[in-house]
Amino acid sequence: MSVNDTLSDNATLSDHATRPANDAPHMSDPQSLRSVHRVVRGEHFHWVGDGFRVTNLFPSAADLGLRISPFLLLDYAAPFDFEPTEHPGGVGVHPHRGFETVTLAFEGSVAHHDSTGAGGVIHPGDVQWMTAASGVLHKEYHEAEWARRGGRFHMVQLWVNLPAAHKMDPPRYQGLTAEQIGRSDLPDGAGIVRVVAGRYGDHVGPAETVTPINLWDLQLTGAAPLQLSFPSDETVALLVLDGSVTVNGTAANHRDLVVLDDDGTDLTVDAAEPARLLLLNGTRIDEPVVAYGPFVMNTRTQIMEAIQDFESGAFGHLDD
Ligand code: MN
Repeated sequence: MSVNDTLSDNATLSDHATRPANDAPHMSDPQSLRSVHRVVRGEHFHWVGDGFRVTNLFPSAADLGLRISPFLLLDYAAPFDFEPTEHPGGVGVHPHRGFETVTLAFEGSVAHHDSTGAGGVIHPGDVQWMTAASGVLHKEYHEAEWARRGGRFHMVQLWVNLPAAHKMDPPRYQGLTAEQIGRSDLPDGAGIVRVVAGRYGDHVGPAETVTPINLWDLQLTGAAPLQLSFPSDETVALLVLDGSVTVNGTAANHRDLVVLDDDGTDLTVDAAEPARLLLLNGTRIDEPVVAYGPFVMNTRTQIMEAIQDFESGAFGHLDD
């Protein structure tokens, strides 16, 4: 039985923990290789608040539309050195509705507080998975103790869409530690994988997701190619966090996002030297997307409601 058959028989919107993706590696059939749709270069950096120097891979650098769904936005804070300070950099109180913000800390520490009372600090290897859904106010800053020492900061923030049926669910906060995420070996000494969400073989990530998502931190040694397979109607993209790789024959360097096409299932990732990648995979949400700043809904009317609710204080309160 192929991976595709298993998925179509069993997959539902909530059983990501039992998804069989990649637990049955198979020989590559040349006809099932995915083409590379596009390599998006992370070239132009801007500041989000005064704490996050990021390049936006999408939607600014590339409007990938449904091809990148359920992912909406990817800001990459490539390694950057901060001076010691008593005034932690960051972003002040702001709202979100209709989606999730996922923050992965590779170097540096980020503190988060939101209007539900949830909050926490994520350190290197940790992930914050905040489901804004019906709406939260939050603020995101460098953690004070880390800011006092200063140092190298390296992070990703990813926005994940919610289906219409879950956009107005209650907010949820998941603080996922490096220990919970764990790590497992890739075949043939190819390296290790940290499964944040979804599943690689027997290794199940701790994040609870609303729709099926695989979010993996792949650390490759370069000793062997990595073979992966995903159903052709699902989104697959790889952000190069360190080093250089070749994905199905196309070269990509640090800060590049490799977006795969829908014409096959399989990909082969070759690294000549150690490299690190963030893999994004998920079932697409084929619904209208109407985005206005921090609100991502399905209709203009819902955006107007979000603005009214925010202005009338329905998102709650959070001190600066
Ligand atoms: Mn935010």
